[in-house]
Amino acid sequence: MNFYILTLFPQMVEEGLHTSIIGRAVEAGTLCIETVDIRSYAKNKHHKVDDYPYGGGAGMLMQAQPVYDAWKSVVDRLGKKPRCVYVTPQGSVFCQQTAKGLALEEDLILLCGHYEGIDERVLEEIVTDYLSIGDYVLTGGELAAMVMVDAISRMVPGVLSNEDSGFTESFEGNLLEYPQYSRPEEWMGKKVPPVLLSGHHKNIEAWRREQSILRTKERRPDLLKGAALTRQEQEWLLAVSEN
Ligand code: SAM
Repeated sequence: MNFYILTLFPQMVEEGLHTSIIGRAVEAGTLCIETVDIRSYAKNKHHKVDDYPYGGGAGMLMQAQPVYDAWKSVVDRLGKKPRCVYVTPQGSVFCQQTAKGLALEEDLILLCGHYEGIDERVLEEIVTDYLSIGDYVLTGGELAAMVMVDAISRMVPGVLSNEDSGFTESFEGNLLEYPQYSRPEEWMGKKVPPVLLSGHHKNIEAWRREQSILRTKERRPDLLKGAALTRQEQEWLLAVSEN
């Protein structure tokens, strides 16, 4: 999968995304992460890309022309218009489902704003999706784009060494993942739950499912509404909740 990140701070994005699992996937050629420096498309001597907003108000706004030209450089090169995500607090909130959907794209453009944002006219022209990483305001879109690239990349076949691991994690089936343990069997007086040492796969699976449900109920009860629990599981949950 190919990502094109339009940004005023390419170095920040490159440094953040070329390490660990994502970095290895880039090296292996499974992913291509390219930054496009919006400032290099400024047409003035000082490479200025921002100006005052009409009507007044705080701060500066990124101007339409350099953003459009940066986007067009990618589109012209590819000979097609991939989906273009503007990362913005005004978008719908990015979640695991969104990541899975976007991982099906061959090419994806992410546009990072800065200052007070970007001139609306260029957004109308190039943006296909408005996505936020949560209800708070960041100084720039770079961290948001990095979060999205990371989460999307994990859903691209070949990026995780174990193909299944991306699909057995939290949010799968609207449940959080069960607790996990590694060696030693006892640490600071705390023992690994015996079922995990039993080698009985069916019992382990059943225990994990119960733990997932309990953890979701405790930490993210909002998710449970969308989880497909069997009637038996619903009754069991009601019974344990009452105790
Ligand atoms: N004036 C804008 C507003 O009130 O909606 C906020 C601009 S913010 C200071 C600058 C840039 O950071 C935005 O253009 C956007 O690209 C990025 N940004 C800020 N918060 C974000 C969030 N929660 N999710 C995604 N991007 C965000």
